[in-house]
Amino acid sequence: MNAQGKLGIALVGLGEYSEKQLAPALQETNHCYLAAIVTGTPGKVDKWKGKYKIPDKNIYNYKSFDAIKENPDIDIVYIVLPNALHAEYVIRAARAGKHVICEKPMAITVEECDQMITACEEAGVMLSLGYRLHFEPYNLEMMRLGKEKPFGNWLSITAENGIQGTSGWRLDKSLAGGGPLMDLGIYCVQGCRYTTGMEPIAVTAKEAAKTDPEKFRSVEEGLSWVMEFPDNIKAACTTSYSKEMNKLRAEAENGWAELGPAYEYSGIKGQSSQGKMEFPEINQQAKQMDDFAQAIKDKRPSPVPGEMGRQDVIILQAIYKAMATGQRIEIG
Ligand code: NAD
Repeated sequence: MNAQGKLGIALVGLGEYSEKQLAPALQETNHCYLAAIVTGTPGKVDKWKGKYKIPDKNIYNYKSFDAIKENPDIDIVYIVLPNALHAEYVIRAARAGKHVICEKPMAITVEECDQMITACEEAGVMLSLGYRLHFEPYNLEMMRLGKEKPFGNWLSITAENGIQGTSGWRLDKSLAGGGPLMDLGIYCVQGCRYTTGMEPIAVTAKEAAKTDPEKFRSVEEGLSWVMEFPDNIKAACTTSYSKEMNKLRAEAENGWAELGPAYEYSGIKGQSSQGKMEFPEINQQAKQMDDFAQAIKDKRPSPVPGEMGRQDVIILQAIYKAMATGQRIEIG
């Protein structure tokens, strides 16, 4: 904690998301600040050091990372690496005695999630996920509508999240764990879970035909799936790396509600059968990180804990199993 009472965050992995979203958001936070960086690319150090006034003693690489244990400036470690590396770095951060935020998806297997949760429990540190939409007013409104039921019970949900084009490690199953489902479809899984406040009990899935089998040789290019929730609520979801989509819509007995775009960093819009939703624009990442810092200070649980990330990985794995087998897969 610094003299102003803010907790120090170390960003691990200085790629797009750290550079363009998290570091700028950390200039707007009230309860935490950018204290340290961990990077494998020495060429990035000068730029970050200069821009954010990070002292040399708070700059680490992946080999020196474990020495953060001795650094009292660092309270929280934020893992922003390719998905397959999340488990290793969350566990190392926990063993260094630091609280951890892990980017989505939490990991590429449920076993890894278990190991991450155990490591944090054993170290007595808190673990949360980078689920920024749990702090975003339009998505919070979908949660409220699901809870308070002004339109009656939900009957069905449609969730779509896709982009046109991707590259790098996201096309490599060994680093990403899968294709757009792991990267973008996870927002649909989350959206359906927080809109209904329920857990899916079974899933069916179908892979989209590949338009570029060479590019998408190790991961799916697109995928549609249906999640069955209790009370016979069905959620039809789609994700893709070759089609722009960004929607979350829920039909109820006496009305409906819809967000579109639903999952962007800004510019989210919503409407319902009662009219246009109007909420202020906020910095999602700043809210998310501030909430975790406050949760640590107040010794209260995070609303986006490791267990929530683990449940998403269980569902993602069930969707892949349904896709591979063509069977309806029950989720335990
Ligand atoms: P990126 O490719 O821009 O950055 C990844 C970083 O990891 C790079 O700095 C790279 O040098 C480093 N790295 C270390 N080891 C690597 C390896 N073996 N292979 C490749 N890169 C390696 O990716 P990103 O978009 O910043 O995504 C990072 C994580 O953040 C992912 O888990 C992603 O899902 C998540 N993310 C979350 C959001 C969100 O809205 N919550 C948005 C974007 C990304």
